[in-house]
Amino acid sequence: MLKIGSVPGDDIGPEVVPEAVKVMKAAAAKVGLQIEWQENLPTGVRGHKLHGTTCPQSTWDALEKLDGWVLGPHGHDVYPKNDPTWFNPPMRKRYEMYANVKPVRSYPNIPSLHKNVDIVFLRETTEGMQAGGVVVAGSGEFRPNDDISIGMRVITRKGANRVARAAFEIAQHRLRKKVTSVHKASVYKLCCGMFAEECREVAKDFPGVELEEVLVDGFAMKLVMKPHQFDVVVTTNQFGDILTDEGAGIVGGLGLAPGLVMGEKQAMAQATHGSAPDIAGKNIANPYAMIMSGRMLMEWLGRKHNEPKAVKAAQLMDAAVEKVIAEAKHLTADLGGKASTTEMGDAIAAALPA
Ligand code: NAD
Repeated sequence: MLKIGSVPGDDIGPEVVPEAVKVMKAAAAKVGLQIEWQENLPTGVRGHKLHGTTCPQSTWDALEKLDGWVLGPHGHDVYPKNDPTWFNPPMRKRYEMYANVKPVRSYPNIPSLHKNVDIVFLRETTEGMQAGGVVVAGSGEFRPNDDISIGMRVITRKGANRVARAAFEIAQHRLRKKVTSVHKASVYKLCCGMFAEECREVAKDFPGVELEEVLVDGFAMKLVMKPHQFDVVVTTNQFGDILTDEGAGIVGGLGLAPGLVMGEKQAMAQATHGSAPDIAGKNIANPYAMIMSGRMLMEWLGRKHNEPKAVKAAQLMDAAVEKVIAEAKHLTADLGGKASTTEMGDAIAAALPA
C-alpha cells in the first residue's frame, strides 16, 4: 500500500494542501487505490508552537518512512528571528531529492502572455547556490567579517548528470523531443561548465532527443518573447528557481505552477509558489498548483511502485482539472473567477470522471 503524507507548512499552505489531499483521496477512491495517509505533519510556525523548531525530529522521522508527501510552502518571514533552522534546501538534501520537475502550460480561456505554451522545467535541487550540507552547513554562505559576505556555489558531476538524465528521460516521451540546457558557461567556466559538460554527456545516450544550449540571460528574454521554442528545459538550482517563476508569469501566475521534487526513493508534491502571506487566511488562494502537484506525485508513485491504479488516479485528476478550468464556473480570483479555495477544490473533486 502506498504511504503518503501531508505537510501543510505556513500561511496559505494549510488552505491549499488539504485541497490537494482531498482530490487525491477522491481520485484514489474512484480507482480502488489504497493509500495509508499520514496527514498534517507539523513544520514551520506549527512546528515552533508544538516542538520549538521549524522542522521537528518527529516530522523528519515520519517522512523517512513515507513513499511521498504533499508539501505546502514555508513562509520564512514568520519564524522567530533567532531560529537557526532552515527548511526546504536541507529537506531536499536529506532525502536526496535532486530534480524539481515544473510544467509550465497555458490554458485557452485563462488570460496569459502567450497561448499554446507547454514547457517542462527541471531544476537541480541539491546543489548550486543553495548547497546547504554539501560542503558547509546552512546555506553555503558565510561572513568572515562585518564588511564582506561570501556565497558558495557547488556543482558536482553526479548532481548535474542525474538531473540532466531525468530531463532527457522526460523529453524522449514528448512530441518535440528537445532538451534546452540553460547555463552561463561562458563566464562561470567551472560550475556552469561542468553542468553543461554533463548535459552533453547524457545527450549521447539519447540520440533521438535534440540538445540545445542557451545562456541564462538570453534564455530569460526568449522565454518571455518566444516561449514556444522550448520543450524540456534543464538548469541549475538558482537559475531554475528564478526562471520557473518567470515561466509561471507567462501563463497566468503562480497559482498555475505545480511541481514535483523527485529523488531515487521518494518524491514530494511542491508547488512553485511561496506561502503568499498577502492572501493567507482568506480562503482565496488558487489550489490548482497544489492539486496538480499532487497529481504529479500520484503518477510518479504509480510508475515507481508499479501501481497502475495510481497512474489512473492521476489521469482522472487531469480530466477533472481540465473540465473545471474549461467550464470556468469555479475559478479563484487570480484566474478571473469568484470561487473560494475550497469551492474550487470541491469542484475539481466532483468533476473526477467515474
Ligand atoms: P509567493 O509565491 O508567496 O507570492 C507571490 C505572489 O503570488 C503574491 O502576490 C501571492 O499572493 C501570489 N500567489 C502565490 N501563490 C498563489 C496562489 N496559490 N493563488 C493565488 N495567488 C498566489 O512569493 P513571496 O511573496 O515572494 O514569498 C512569500 C513567502 O513565501 C516568503 O516568506 C518566502 O520566503 C516564502 N517562499 C516559500 C517557498 C516554499 O516554501 N517553497 C517558495 C517561495 C517563497
